[in-house]
Amino acid sequence: MIKQFLDSPQSWQITLANAIHDPKELLALMELDSYPQEISKSIERGFSLRVPHSYVARMKKGDPNDPLFLQVFPLAIEDKTDPSFSLDPVGDLTATTVPGVLQKYIGRVLLITTGACAIHCRYCFRRHFPYTEHHAVKNYWREALQYIAQDSSIKEVILSGGDPLVLSDNRLANLVQKLEDIPHVKRIRIHTRLPIVLPERINESLLYWLANTSLQRVIVIHTNHANEIDQNVVSVLRKLSDIGCYLFNQTVLLRRINDEVDTLVNLSERLFEVGVIPYYLHMLDKVQGAAHFEVDLIKAQSLYKKLRAQLPGYLVPLLVQEQAGAPNKLPLFF
Ligand SMILES: *Cc1c(COP(=O)(O)O)cnc(C)c1O
Ligand code: SF4
Repeated sequence: MIKQFLDSPQSWQITLANAIHDPKELLALMELDSYPQEISKSIERGFSLRVPHSYVARMKKGDPNDPLFLQVFPLAIEDKTDPSFSLDPVGDLTATTVPGVLQKYIGRVLLITTGACAIHCRYCFRRHFPYTEHHAVKNYWREALQYIAQDSSIKEVILSGGDPLVLSDNRLANLVQKLEDIPHVKRIRIHTRLPIVLPERINESLLYWLANTSLQRVIVIHTNHANEIDQNVVSVLRKLSDIGCYLFNQTVLLRRINDEVDTLVNLSERLFEVGVIPYYLHMLDKVQGAAHFEVDLIKAQSLYKKLRAQLPGYLVPLLVQEQAGAPNKLPLFF
């Protein structure tokens, strides 16, 4: 399946380069010029504001409580330290086997392909991850592939990051081709938020290599609110499922964003309407700077009970908590 793709800047790369970084610009676009909130210092310490214009277009103007706006706007409250929130809440640093490879669970490994994302979600559990030492693209590609080739129990390779789809199609096609050469690898899984936040990324060249690999393909998107799913998103999700990708979604349970049962019901219904199965509903990972997004366990369980009463079982995502050292993501049964 070797095919060289254009190396000239693609339109999605230009759109990404034009993403908004300045909180004042975002406030102006949101028609919130007199918004009194102070801005977090974290944006100067490596976790900047970043949001593509098309995502801002889906926000309700003039509404400081818009659920999309709240996911990306760096409030000063992020700077408050909370002793129960850490820099590496899910033990990613200790689960690192070779640089760029995380293996926590049997049968699947996760590749940190890049540290970059098209959007910066303020609750991100990897907001402090030292990507420059870890991402697998440049120096460690070979080592990561060797690691996978040596362990025949690995059936699935998860491309993660950051967001793997910010890499060029040449790089991705190349990686996938090397994975195809490893006989025990049966499928690739792509953890990406780009079909949601930068749908134009799902372009012809991406669809080409994705359609032409012999590996099975699973795509796990990340969306937290039905308002994120507009017509452009619907259209690229259809293209992905038309070429035979299995589509799932993960959501993070977030205070003021989706911590109401109607919001979660709407999200599941909307996902199914557009061909995506709800997979996980994650409890927030306790990363420093994200404490104000936390939904406590009692509230989460009560919400979940109502969710299960309102939806068919196949539209109820599994409520899970990631725990460092555990053999899988822990379902929160009650
Ligand atoms: C979440 C995660 C996975 C995937 O877990 P599934 O339950 O298979 O979705 C794999 N590896 C790592 C390191 C993870 O954090
Ligand atoms: S897209 Fe995912 S990895 Fe990127 S900032 Fe958002 S939550 Fe973090």
